[in-house]
Amino acid sequence: MKRILIAGGAGFIGTHLCRRMLAEGNEVICLDDLSSGSYENIRDLLEKDRFTFIQQDVIDPVEVAGPLDRIYDLACQASPVQYQKDPVHTARTSVLGACNLLDLARHTGARILLTSTSETYGEPLVHPQPESYRGNVNSIGIRSCYDEGKRMAETLFFDYHRQYGTDIRVVRLFNTYGPGMLRRDGRVVSNFILQALSGKPITIYGDGLQTRCLCYVDDTLEAIVRMMETDGITGPVNIGNPVEMTVKEIADLVLDLSDSRSGIVYMARPQDDPTRRCPDITLAGRLLGWAPTISPREGLRRTIEYFRDE
Ligand code: UDP
Repeated sequence: MKRILIAGGAGFIGTHLCRRMLAEGNEVICLDDLSSGSYENIRDLLEKDRFTFIQQDVIDPVEVAGPLDRIYDLACQASPVQYQKDPVHTARTSVLGACNLLDLARHTGARILLTSTSETYGEPLVHPQPESYRGNVNSIGIRSCYDEGKRMAETLFFDYHRQYGTDIRVVRLFNTYGPGMLRRDGRVVSNFILQALSGKPITIYGDGLQTRCLCYVDDTLEAIVRMMETDGITGPVNIGNPVEMTVKEIADLVLDLSDSRSGIVYMARPQDDPTRRCPDITLAGRLLGWAPTISPREGLRRTIEYFRDE
């Protein structure tokens, strides 16, 4: 049994991780300010002996009594619509949150994992993106609070590792989706599914020819846990499903799978919206023996079912 702190544990991926860690017999301390996470997500866990919830913002110093074996840093809004509402807070969450959790790792000797992002590659000039690609990020744009925030968090992880010997892991997640996504999330998958199910027009930003790769949450989770539990590596390691799809293809697939009669409306493309995105996951295969197992068709089918039941 390990004692595990999950910062952002009431969020989308965090909730799945809390459940998995509890099911494997660990003690879980979930820290979340509930800004994007929700109490509903974890309500049933509160009764469990091995589960503790701390409502706190990671930008404040994090203190946890007793020893810790593992710290997962998932504490940041990942949806552009959400993280752009209070960009200063988004940057502070990534940077100060990383500092606070790294200090805790340093003092407890816990291993710590950062969920970084494909956003570190910005508008990529290399395709698909390997971890060695240093990216093309606009440091003064509306996405920079998140992109540069996560890049700085990566820097802090590696500096704590070099300077203090902190045991770090860094993964870069590419568009994860699945059951448990918030309705108000604002990202492509939840928007399209909710629109399709309610018969409202699907909102495609731009011409819909920009691409993304969608990774089902169970696949992402498996990779994160393998990364944490593999000795002798730091990353960064890309985690994503390299089936590249245009946004229009995602819309068509959602319409097909949900038997929807919604039309499509084309709207303005957001500033700095990356044109292409696809992970090179060679490294994840080699280091973790990992590859995604759920196709976009199957994953979207399950996610549509989830939203329909909701
Ligand atoms: N997008 C869209 N309609 C929506 C939401 C998103 O066309 O209602 C597009 C968006 O412009 C982007 C892609 O879908 O090109 C993925 O956007 P999302 O906000 O999901 O996340 P990102 O990958 O940009 O961080």
